[in-house]
Amino acid sequence: MKILVCEDNFVDRKILCNFLQQYGTVDVAANGREAAEAFEGGITEQERYHLVLLDINMPEMNGHEVLKAIRNLEKEIGAVSSSHAVVIMTTSAEDPVTILRSFREQCDGYIKKPVTKEKLKTELAKYKCFNTI
Ligand SMILES: [Mg+2]
Repeated sequence: MKILVCEDNFVDRKILCNFLQQYGTVDVAANGREAAEAFEGGITEQERYHLVLLDINMPEMNGHEVLKAIRNLEKEIGAVSSSHAVVIMTTSAEDPVTILRSFREQCDGYIKKPVTKEKLKTELAKYKCFNTI
């Protein structure tokens, strides 16, 4: 399992990485541009990410822009929805507009900050690929 954590806050990044290590290899991106580049790199190297944790509020590119870039890349390579990366947005914004927009842009899930192990566990349990752990 290849996992990409996109988060500009050091503490949040650490929590996510520590928890997700049990599920596979975790790479980190500290801003939106890095996140988009890392995802593209994974696709071109035939080592696609299975799971992406995507902060919405990040410098250089925000989470919405990164999500669009991810889904566009997948479209280009012809990934069907069952094989697309599971993208879970993380943000402290709770307004329904942000949440709706994220789902319209084809995220798979949404975690309200602060991110905790319990919230991550609950969210990941929704996806078959993480149920064995
Ligand atoms: Mg942030």
